[in-house]
Amino acid sequence: MALAAVPARAASLIRDADIEYALAQLADPILRAAGLSPAQVRVILVNDSSLNAFVADTQHIFIHTGLLLKLPNARSLQAVIAHEAAHITNGHLTRRAGNVASARTAAGLGMILAAAAAAAGGGQAAAGVAIGTQSSALRVLLSHSRAEEASADQSSVRYMVRAGVNPQGAVEVHEMFKGQEALSVSRQDPYMRSHPLNRDRMRAMQGFVAAYGKDLPDSNAALYWFARAQGKLSAFTRAPGWTLRRAKDSATQDIALMRQAAAHHRQSDLKNALASIDGALKLRPRDPFYMDLKGQILLESRQAAGAVNTYAQASKLAPRNALILGGLGRALLAADRPRDALSALEKARDRDWRDARVLRDLSVAYAKTGQTGMASVVTAERYALQGRMKDAGLHAKRAVDLLPRGSGPWQRAQDVLLTAERATKR
Ligand SMILES: [Zn+2]
Repeated sequence: MALAAVPARAASLIRDADIEYALAQLADPILRAAGLSPAQVRVILVNDSSLNAFVADTQHIFIHTGLLLKLPNARSLQAVIAHEAAHITNGHLTRRAGNVASARTAAGLGMILAAAAAAAGGGQAAAGVAIGTQSSALRVLLSHSRAEEASADQSSVRYMVRAGVNPQGAVEVHEMFKGQEALSVSRQDPYMRSHPLNRDRMRAMQGFVAAYGKDLPDSNAALYWFARAQGKLSAFTRAPGWTLRRAKDSATQDIALMRQAAAHHRQSDLKNALASIDGALKLRPRDPFYMDLKGQILLESRQAAGAVNTYAQASKLAPRNALILGGLGRALLAADRPRDALSALEKARDRDWRDARVLRDLSVAYAKTGQTGMASVVTAERYALQGRMKDAGLHAKRAVDLLPRGSGPWQRAQDVLLTAERATKR
């Protein structure tokens, strides 16, 4: 998890291997019940403290960090995922497709995140985002009609029951937003604006839950992964003192130790951070994500060689995980092994191009190995991913000039360049 302070309304993702795995565990039964493939739909966190969740294509469900922190329990998070999955399966995206950005490229995803940040109320200036004339089209992309909301509510309750998840979670989500209907639009959370909620919808939802819902017990796995995702996110976003006061009340001992490790690390207390994460690893010795956190602690404490070893172990335990592989690449770069770093980072990027840190580290590794055109294209993609289209365009132009015409990287640069030109045109 990135510790760097990000302005409240920047369009950015928070990529964390542990949290994303936890979200995938919670999403898995819901997505299957919706007839979607869990391998093809990712649940990804957007770094924004306002409450929102949205879909813009069939491959991503975006959840704001503010919403994950606020949700009361696992089933309410699963209700949010079920509702967004229903927007995908009920075809609410198809009528918007084609004329607006898709999240399949860095530039397209950056535009969608910029639109989400704008919808969250920051506007273009605050995020340094120029989304120009596409702004209104993108706002439409992220909002739904009342009819769509009603159908998504009904489908989501069916998915939850089919997945064995208590649909009461959906009512609990609605309850979180109760009272916001009375607020002026500018004071509402963006979830209220993108998913128009009113008393009729609330009553209908209670009806669906009463009709379909049995008294389903919460699964231990869901409780565990929800506590872990929320516990890790809060440990990195709230004050360390807050975390240290509450960690002992965590659902399990390993989660308590993981949260303490993160809090101590943020206080630059390496000794206690390592003691805590080693305690968590003692309880779950083959947990690649606790190993990943240990690697991060070592790396950010300037122990590059130890970090390389730890990330290598984590990567052995989760060989297909692109975020962990990215951590290994970052550690190798810090250990001044740019060629080894390049190999790990390229593999990480091939598996997942949405990690801005990997793109940043790749640009350093390319520069150190004399590949300036490649350094420019990944820099362009990184800016694009952050919605900084003007900077993205400048680097993409440079990459297009440097790279062999028609090559894969040249085409990626071309894609960023075209999107940047369209986005900054007024
Ligand atoms: Zn909705």
